[in-house]
Amino acid sequence: MIALLGAKERRGRRRKGSGLESNFEKYAVLARELGAVDAIVICVRDIVFDPRTYIKCMYGCSTWGKSWICPSAPGALKPWEAEDVLSRYKKALIIHTHDKDTSQMISLSIESKAFVDGYYFAFSMSDCGLCQECSFPDREPCRFPRKARPAMQAMGIDVFATARGQGLPIETLADESCKENWYSLVMLE
Ligand code: SF4
Repeated sequence: MIALLGAKERRGRRRKGSGLESNFEKYAVLARELGAVDAIVICVRDIVFDPRTYIKCMYGCSTWGKSWICPSAPGALKPWEAEDVLSRYKKALIIHTHDKDTSQMISLSIESKAFVDGYYFAFSMSDCGLCQECSFPDREPCRFPRKARPAMQAMGIDVFATARGQGLPIETLADESCKENWYSLVMLE
């Protein structure tokens, strides 16, 4: 039923229930002002982790081993390690857009704003599309290390289950002509 509601109706319903939005709703508002379709403050316990994301990255992803933010990059956390780290947070903002660039721009802006507001562990996950071609295959340093962030799935997050748990739309797609639902996440505190 809730999946059939628009973003506005979903927000109305959520506000009645959780009470979480009071402290962090300003970040959800900012995300929408920056172009997000929707943005929701969630409890970190509602993020679904599943280490099977690793095999889906490793076998079948065309950018495996070609990006600094790939879980194959030197020093990258394994999904089960990332779950341990991310579980230290209590609250996060999930951001819905229709493309990776917008998703990265918004989530980085929220991370930066939250940091300046005093949430010094604020951390965004968006995937990285800042360069036409990532420098990783050339063994060159990342060109924008202050802005490059991993995708949620690279950190062991089941994006489908996490988004659906909030009543947000996401489906598997037949091909690249289908309209995409992109999600990024900002860990707040
Ligand atoms: S900023 Fe550029 S070089 Fe760095 S991870 Fe992103 S695409 Fe790769």
